[in-house]
Amino acid sequence: MQQLGTLYVISAPSGAGKTSLVKALLNQDQRVCVSVSHTTRDMRPGETDGKDYNFVSMADFNAMIERKHFLEYAEVFTNKYGTSRLWVEEQLQQGRDVILEIDWQGAQQIRKQMPECVSLFILPPSITELRQRLTGRGTDSEETISHRMSEALNEMRHYGEYQYLVINDDFDTALQELQAVFTARRLELTRQQQKYSTMLTELLSE
Ligand code: 5GP
Repeated sequence: MQQLGTLYVISAPSGAGKTSLVKALLNQDQRVCVSVSHTTRDMRPGETDGKDYNFVSMADFNAMIERKHFLEYAEVFTNKYGTSRLWVEEQLQQGRDVILEIDWQGAQQIRKQMPECVSLFILPPSITELRQRLTGRGTDSEETISHRMSEALNEMRHYGEYQYLVINDDFDTALQELQAVFTARRLELTRQQQKYSTMLTELLSE
């Protein structure tokens, strides 16, 4: 029987480096894929429809809610974001691990429906560092930066609801720690017993 994949829920405030860390993880680990969410927010420069997000209108998003298309969805800063149920379930059935990069509200919904998921929060190393990362190229107003900071704090207040916590101070260290969580999950006894059932039977048959 095909082993089910694991669902990983990863949250972080913007500025914590979540997307870069997940990208680096995907480059090194072919068994993992990431869910592309639907969103009603406008596309940013450099983003591609269908790759970064599936960009949809509010009317289409609401129709998808009605059709029970989403495994979870939430309103984040006036825009809606949601995860496609069918796609995620298909990947897990095929034994692939799936990452959801979602906010704390979505994470709460996933934990309720799929308590076997693995949840992980990424934090920046300090408030000064976060402020620097959110200040960007210095072209934003103080008001914009303050707004981003308060949104980040709002997300960070939920870190204690997650099973794992990674502090992204040094990128390579944070990446190794992230990989360690994936590795530990794969080494769990019941998973290993299923994967190596023939070998284990032979090993202990004497
Ligand atoms: P951004 O608009 O900056 O890409 O993302 C804003 C926030 O929405 C981030 O915290 C991100 O994790 C969250 N987010 C992205 N996709 C989803 C989703 O499908 N569901 C939920 N609940 N949050 C999401």
